[in-house]
Amino acid sequence: MSIVIRKKGFTAGIKLNENKKSAASPIQLLKTPERVIIPLQQHTGAECEPLVKRGDSVFEGQLIGDSNKLISARIHASIGGVVSGILKIVNPVNSAIISAVEITSQKAGKEGEQPYSGLQKQDGKPYNAGIIPENVVDLIDKIPREKLLETIKNSGIVGLGGATFPAHVKLNPPAGIKIDTLIINGCECEPYITSDHRLMLEYGFEMLCGIYIISRILEPQNILIAIEDNKEDAIINIENLIGALGFENTFKIVSLPSRYPMGAEKTLIYNLLKRKVSTGALPLDVGVVVNNVGTAKAIFDAVIKNRPLIERIITVTGDIERPVNLFVRIGTLLGDILESIKVPDNKTLKLIFGGPMTGFSVSNMDFPVTKGVNCILIKEVKKPLENNCIRCSRCVAVCPMNLMPLVYASYVKNNKYEDCREYYIDSCIECGSCAYVCPASIPLMGYIKTGKSVLARKS
Ligand code: SF4
Ligand code: SF4
Repeated sequence: MSIVIRKKGFTAGIKLNENKKSAASPIQLLKTPERVIIPLQQHTGAECEPLVKRGDSVFEGQLIGDSNKLISARIHASIGGVVSGILKIVNPVNSAIISAVEITSQKAGKEGEQPYSGLQKQDGKPYNAGIIPENVVDLIDKIPREKLLETIKNSGIVGLGGATFPAHVKLNPPAGIKIDTLIINGCECEPYITSDHRLMLEYGFEMLCGIYIISRILEPQNILIAIEDNKEDAIINIENLIGALGFENTFKIVSLPSRYPMGAEKTLIYNLLKRKVSTGALPLDVGVVVNNVGTAKAIFDAVIKNRPLIERIITVTGDIERPVNLFVRIGTLLGDILESIKVPDNKTLKLIFGGPMTGFSVSNMDFPVTKGVNCILIKEVKKPLENNCIRCSRCVAVCPMNLMPLVYASYVKNNKYEDCREYYIDSCIECGSCAYVCPASIPLMGYIKTGKSVLARKS
């Protein structure tokens, strides 16, 4: 029986120009930075308290931030060195002021240096169906469920698809809630970004073992790995590895048409299972947990390699000569990353953390890569002028949550934030589809984000 289920015929969502320019670029290791700035809130939930002070020596992987709140995620030093400052920085996502630990290294890194949680692969090549290390599954089977959860918590793992929800909370549903389906999200539906695609090609083994660990914790009946059909090479690689690991009776790959926002959690659950997650509800309310492919790999690194989350894969792409995928330490500064890339110096550029649909602009070269950043998009500025709404309703037609995006722009401009609530602004998944199709170039996502953050501060 085939382990690949091919779903076809979707008309929902929008077909975007994919621009996956870095899809064929193997993951490279960015040299270890000499200075990092590590925010103490890189996750959904409470900010961590610093556990170090200026002048302290820290080692790579040391716990430097923690919180006693239920929803939070631990923070670790991504390089060894000395704490050169406890800073206050502005989080560009919500304009909140947060604390950050600055660490200055004693030694400069080298180009291509093995990252802390990178795997020691044979000949530096990815594991494939012909080279599978023995006993990993047996090893996982011997670790009690509570110990697996504790390791995930201690390692500061959050959802790496962008949502950054603490993984140990997501994987420990309240008593009485049964998770029957685990969905692993490898859709990567946003244009330009290829970090998950490369991970599935180069770290498929680690990802699958991470999924196996998650399945030990949740004991779901169904395990579905969702991949868009524009990544056929990843589908084949994962299919072969599932066979080699002997997981073919429990793991299924679902190939989905490439349409945006296929990878949004609620959209994905509906498209795979026809289950609706209503406003204010969570996937676990319909018996589902969704994890990103990168989260699964991070869980493997934590459990098998005893390594906390101190680095991640990002795509650096856009209007540049050589788009790349990079292993980057958490806290690496934007300026240091741009230094390693050939950036055109005769053009006005916009720098976006994330993709073109959901990302946010950054102008400070000292802004760090955090756990939720999967891409740095470098775009030439051709700023369209915002015009008046022509009531064409295109934004309404494309909204996957059946909202009326046009009203948010109008209410936010007129400071009528409470009225946004009456039009269910909290149900917006910030996919950016409305802004993409708007013929009047109204920055609907900006208005929505402003409206949501003002309402969040009020409540
Ligand atoms: S209103 Fe929100 S969910 Fe709807 S299209 Fe716009 S960004 Fe996406
Ligand atoms: S797509 Fe733009 S112009 Fe058309 S109704 Fe929506 S906000 Fe107005």
